[in-house]
Amino acid sequence: MTADEWDRCPRSDRMILPLHEWLLANPAAAGPVDRRLRLYAVACCRQRWELFDSDLFRRAVEVAEELAEGRADEKERAVLYAAIMDFPTPNGQSHCIENMTLKLLQNRGINCVAAAVSDLAFATGAGDFEAVVQAQAPLLRCVVGNPFRPVAFDPALRTPSTSELATSIYADRAFDRMPAQADALEKAGCGLPDLLAHCRGGGPHVRGCWVIDLLLGQAGPRAV
Ligand SMILES: [Zn+2]
Repeated sequence: MTADEWDRCPRSDRMILPLHEWLLANPAAAGPVDRRLRLYAVACCRQRWELFDSDLFRRAVEVAEELAEGRADEKERAVLYAAIMDFPTPNGQSHCIENMTLKLLQNRGINCVAAAVSDLAFATGAGDFEAVVQAQAPLLRCVVGNPFRPVAFDPALRTPSTSELATSIYADRAFDRMPAQADALEKAGCGLPDLLAHCRGGGPHVRGCWVIDLLLGQAGPRAV
């Protein structure tokens, strides 16, 4: 896949294999991207929150986010996993959502991207499948950026003003402030067109957004 094809790809299911191959060829990138791909899957679940019709399922999505942020309670994860395994699913849709939550609690990285198609999109039924994978595609670009057009990020761009704004955007899920983030980056001397365009584009942006994660540092955000 070329960089332009990645930018224009309309469906998440067509992005999985190229992304997987890129991750295999770039193992050094896998750590921080793994975190963001789990957050991507969380965002996909939140897009179809109505399908998560049990408190267990909804809590599993929240715990998956906490896992990505390094603040999850491992005991709660184990208890939750066991409870979901024992949960009687009444139909195929519920069974798919159960599988999605179990994978979110156990997996990260590319497996989470695959589950967002193989479990979450299928849970919506054949009639809605295409709409779901279309809605997922921009979320995947938000968290990964464009792997086929790398950006040479300069850590000097992590100034007090850009870092504080990124922290507040993440903590408050205030992605409407992304254009302000672009302004702050420009004031800090940023001339990276892909990075500025991502901030000023229409989104959607979610926790795990590659620009915000770069500004927060590869170890992930501060505890919130
Ligand atoms: Zn983004």
